[in-house]
Amino acid sequence: MHSPSPFAMKNVNWNSLIKPEVLAIAGYHLAKHEYVVKLDQNENPFGVPEPLREEILRRLRARDWSRYPDFQMQRLTERIAAYAGALTERVVVGNGSNSLIQALFWVVLAPGDRMIVTEPTFSLYAQFARMLGAEVRTCRLQPETFALPLEALRREIREPRAKMLVLCSPNNPTGNQFSLTDIETLISEFDGLVVLDEAYREFSEQDALALLERYENLLLLRTFSKAFALAGLRIGYLLGAPALCEQVKKARVPYSVNLMAETAAEVCLDHLDILQQQIRDIIRLRQELLEALAPLKRVRAYPSDANFVLIRTDEPRRLFQFLLEDGILVRDVTGYPMLKQCLRISVGTESENQRLLRRLQQWETV
Ligand code: PMP
Repeated sequence: MHSPSPFAMKNVNWNSLIKPEVLAIAGYHLAKHEYVVKLDQNENPFGVPEPLREEILRRLRARDWSRYPDFQMQRLTERIAAYAGALTERVVVGNGSNSLIQALFWVVLAPGDRMIVTEPTFSLYAQFARMLGAEVRTCRLQPETFALPLEALRREIREPRAKMLVLCSPNNPTGNQFSLTDIETLISEFDGLVVLDEAYREFSEQDALALLERYENLLLLRTFSKAFALAGLRIGYLLGAPALCEQVKKARVPYSVNLMAETAAEVCLDHLDILQQQIRDIIRLRQELLEALAPLKRVRAYPSDANFVLIRTDEPRRLFQFLLEDGILVRDVTGYPMLKQCLRISVGTESENQRLLRRLQQWETV
């Protein structure tokens, strides 16, 4: 039996407790839908191959789950450094690259600092920057090609409070990679930090790794969520100047990479040949998908250097529903600047892409 509490019910005025910067933003939302074919999050459609899954579970069984993981993540950091072709002191491993974006912004951005970002792009950068009280400055990509707006960015990085420029290449959700020459121009002219998110780098023909040695103000973000099929286990890494890496590690949540994720990442790195074959298959399937989309009249696909394709269509919201009625879930990106007519579609397996194409052919005649 509980005796009645002598204390009165207490309500909180959230507006006075929560930071105004947080109250002001909408947050990152993902609507829930029933689906058969999932083409909405740019995941690896093949998943981790069965022998590797077995190997991960076998190794995991042999580990002591009641002990904390290695605080420094030493072995995994070394393995990732070797894979990426960078020195170990240039690597910070984290619980998905999202968590490293958060840690990095936390150590760099103070209220009033300016963060420059292109649009449309991955929305998390602006959201995290705003929560920290930074001022987000946006530069639109060039119409149609979605190339970098070099002159506008050059103007922005000259501003005295500009502290960070964030670029995503290949860019989500447009799919194109940016010119490395343009990127290097910006890195060399800017006194602040250039963050280059290369989450989709394995599907493209270029990366900025070679620039890392020459520019201390460049930092790359990478992930195991896309090419390596580990989105559910959360592993990402950052490559940058050793001095910066030291600071970012202070903001990383201790033990944020759990034993399972660590084990899975190591198994992937032990079987790179299998995963690299998957990547080649995804690139081939992307090209086949783009070719099959080309003759369609109601849909126009943009070129892609990633594992997804952006399409433009006359009635995107209706097409989204039309695909969903056939169990195909894609991403509605109509809310992004410049993309009012667009949907983003991940490259699926052969049969998933065939189902998508059959449905898009039906769409031509409805
Ligand atoms: N960067 C970009 C550009 C992305 O599209 C995503 C995932 N949608 C991420 C980072 C996040 O990756 P992770 O799963 O490593 O947090």
